[in-house]
Amino acid sequence: ISIHLASFCEKIFNQLKIAYKREIIFHYDNDALTIMADELKLKQVIIITIDNALKYSTDRIDVYLEDHEHNAVIRVVDYGIGIPHNEIENIFERFYRVDKARSRATGGTGLGLSIAKNIMKQHHGEIKVKSTEGEGTEVELHLPKTQKTD
Ligand code: ATP
Repeated sequence: ISIHLASFCEKIFNQLKIAYKREIIFHYDNDALTIMADELKLKQVIIITIDNALKYSTDRIDVYLEDHEHNAVIRVVDYGIGIPHNEIENIFERFYRVDKARSRATGGTGLGLSIAKNIMKQHHGEIKVKSTEGEGTEVELHLPKTQKTD
């Protein structure tokens, strides 16, 4: 099904802002970006990513919807604890959690990102993580844009 990303994201963020009582600031220029995706699965990936950003930070978070050459990109930026450089390659493994003691306080199973990665693969997309320990984390969801048929 074709999804209009700006309104789709806005709707999810409005629900999450109320549920978590936290600030999610949404930035976008292109109001017309659409992609083909399974709505429920895409919503699940977005929720997993935002849940992590909120869980591992205390400040507001920023989300950018970007129009790249081939992909629509949803970039989730937090200013939280970050992920140690040598752990980034592991976080997509099932049940993997960075620093068990630290993670225990926030709860969770360590399944979220492995599920997100699988869903992104099913959609011919990609999930990319950049992080600096003590500064914050950026997670990018890349999804192929709907082809123009003009
Ligand atoms: P659940 O999926 O049940 O919510 P989880 O958050 O522990 O549990 P994942 O979403 O798979 O599991 O994330 C794996 C690990 O990656 C987390 O335990 C955490 O250590 C680290 N991580 C993920 N996102 C962030 C983030 N935004 N900031 C800091 N660490 C993160």
